[in-house]
Amino acid sequence: MPNLKFHDKEFIPYISASEIEKEISRVASEINNDYQAKKPLFIAILNGAFIFAADLFKKINVEAEICFIKLASYKGVKSTGKVITAIGLDAEIYNRDVIILEDIVDTGKTLSQFLPTLEHQHPASLKIAALLHKPSATVHEIKIDYLGFTIPDKFVLGFGLDYDGLGRNIKEIYQLV
Ligand code: 5GP
Repeated sequence: MPNLKFHDKEFIPYISASEIEKEISRVASEINNDYQAKKPLFIAILNGAFIFAADLFKKINVEAEICFIKLASYKGVKSTGKVITAIGLDAEIYNRDVIILEDIVDTGKTLSQFLPTLEHQHPASLKIAALLHKPSATVHEIKIDYLGFTIPDKFVLGFGLDYDGLGRNIKEIYQLV
């Protein structure tokens, strides 16, 4: 596969479409095993997770719901700094078995700010599924329950992930040169 150029940057092929498919199938079967007698509610975080969420959800064979949210941060009035709100979160969380779908956990900041909002609503359980994880970039420790790939701390694009708006439609994952 040739390198790709988006804006001013060049990207090299990193994970093939078939490898991605294989790992998503594995993650789906782990979830299917763990949620057999349950009815999980998947919460996919837009924009990046939309392709991961769609491909994973097609492989889920237990009764399940899915909703899509966007996270917006704004400066809180308290000294704690940023507050994260979930736009489009209209599902009832109380007593539900919730699985968050995230494209990539990098520093862990986004999830560490968002998870308390969900925990306040007392789900029966709260798990995280991520396609990619960069452990060496971690600042806020996040327990990822279902993971596709562990990758080094290098910028990636494709399969839903963008570089400045572009590259989300690429079927493979590319890495910044
Ligand atoms: P965190 O809060 O864990 O640092 O970052 C989470 C978000 O940052 C991800 O959901 C994603 O949108 C963005 N992000 C982090 N690393 C990358 C990367 O390598 N490529 C792209 N395209 N987005 C990234």
